[in-house]
Amino acid sequence: MEQTISKSRSVLLLLARRLPRDSSAVRRTFSTSRSNDADFTHAVIGGGVVGLAIARQLAQRTGTSTILIERHGSVGTETSSRNSEVIHAGIYYGPSSLKTRLCIRGKNLLYDLCETKSIPYRRTKKWIIAQDERQMQHLTDLHAFTKSIDVPTSFLSRREIQDREPDVRADAGVLESPTTGIVDSHALMSYLEGDLDSLGGDQVLHTVVTGVEAVRSGGGPSADDPGNGITSYEIRTRSRDGAGGEDTITAECVVNAAGLGAIAVNNMLLPPERHRTAYFAKGTYFSYSASRPRVKTLLYPAPVPGLGGLGTHLTLDMGGRARFGPDVEWVDDPTDLTPNPARLADAVKVIQTYLPSVDVGAIDLDYCGIRPKLSPGSSGTYGKDGKGFEDFIICEEHGFPGFVNLLGIESPGLTSALAIAERVEDILYGEKAKV
Ligand SMILES: Cc1cc2nc3c(=O)[nH]c(=O)nc-3n(C[C@H](O)[C@H](O)[C@H](O)COP(=O)(O)OP(=O)(O)OC[C@H]3O[C@@H](n4cnc5c(N)ncnc54)[C@H](O)[C@@H]3O)c2cc1C
Repeated sequence: MEQTISKSRSVLLLLARRLPRDSSAVRRTFSTSRSNDADFTHAVIGGGVVGLAIARQLAQRTGTSTILIERHGSVGTETSSRNSEVIHAGIYYGPSSLKTRLCIRGKNLLYDLCETKSIPYRRTKKWIIAQDERQMQHLTDLHAFTKSIDVPTSFLSRREIQDREPDVRADAGVLESPTTGIVDSHALMSYLEGDLDSLGGDQVLHTVVTGVEAVRSGGGPSADDPGNGITSYEIRTRSRDGAGGEDTITAECVVNAAGLGAIAVNNMLLPPERHRTAYFAKGTYFSYSASRPRVKTLLYPAPVPGLGGLGTHLTLDMGGRARFGPDVEWVDDPTDLTPNPARLADAVKVIQTYLPSVDVGAIDLDYCGIRPKLSPGSSGTYGKDGKGFEDFIICEEHGFPGFVNLLGIESPGLTSALAIAERVEDILYGEKAKV
């Protein structure tokens, strides 16, 4: 199957070099002297949901060519297929952060896309549950904040809680987010991949990026203009299994959407003083095999300020089956995807706080996903004063015109993907300032 959907790497690269291009139609703001000799206008490194959305967005520009480079044999096999598949409302990420703006815009774009392209999704709604006065205060603060960003939330009456989800325990109260939902992330990525293909975009699979270097012509860097003379980028690759050897692709613009590998790609191009260290926070999920208690709404405990994630919550898959998680465990190895049995007891304790009649014997270890983090112990959500909160980094790197870096694209990256794609296009072309 993989073989049939992926074009042969070397054939694709040969074809790519012969692609006719109408360079007069290419209008970017960062330079007037870009290379017309590069193999591609845009190279996107990383075929997760974000890379796919960006490649599809850029492939829509007339007179350009776009290639997506992915190290695995198919797209979307890393973090994009190891998450909760929740369409987040955008309420956890503080005032004016990229996460807030891109999540809200991405959510709207995603619901529209699912609706028009028949991608499976559900508007499940979500409850955030407080068990005591301190947690209730967090929900009150959260509610006030959601008003300020114009995202609806409302407190439910005790009667409503009891009628709608009789198995849920919420001693102090429930704040409901009516715009939260779920999406079939695999169907979404299949759609994006198919659309990229029909727009004439290319993808090369089984291909690991091992180096990125700026290609200059004419003048070199100066203090005023460190990007002076950069006309394109040379991307070195090797086939994943080593059998296909090494190759080089050149592109006028490079987008680093490599997820857990993004910092490694950053460090391939940027000078040593701008190198970063990657950190990883693993999340373990737990399956639930019993049919009772059966809930219809996503259930989240009240947020714990400073936590790397949102607390061990209950989400539903498209078939209505419940799963719990993810928790937060800091790890050194981004390939450490084996569920850790030692996590089960703590997760059960959290789950029992809001679902006391849960059948503990039916909870089992399921799968893991890993969050790409930019600093140790950082929080993906905005606590009381934003301490430790880490936003997405999405920028054209100073001194590297046409190189757009996406770092720390943890949750709500799935929800935000379509809006992130618009933003990258805006960074490169400056025409679509939507957020
Ligand atoms: C536990 C967990 C739960 C989450 N839940 C949600 C949620 O409910 N809702 C939500 O909105 N978001 C959620 N997220 C976040 C969301 O899953 C991610 O933000 C999103 O999937 C990131 O997509 P991506 O394309 O940036 O990264 P990835 O999916 O990781 O894709 C990056 C790709 O780059 C490739 N790559 C890396 N290095 C190289 C290289 N050198 N050469 C070639 N290819 C390379 C990788 O193979 C990979 O396929 C969750 C994340 C986690 C970890």
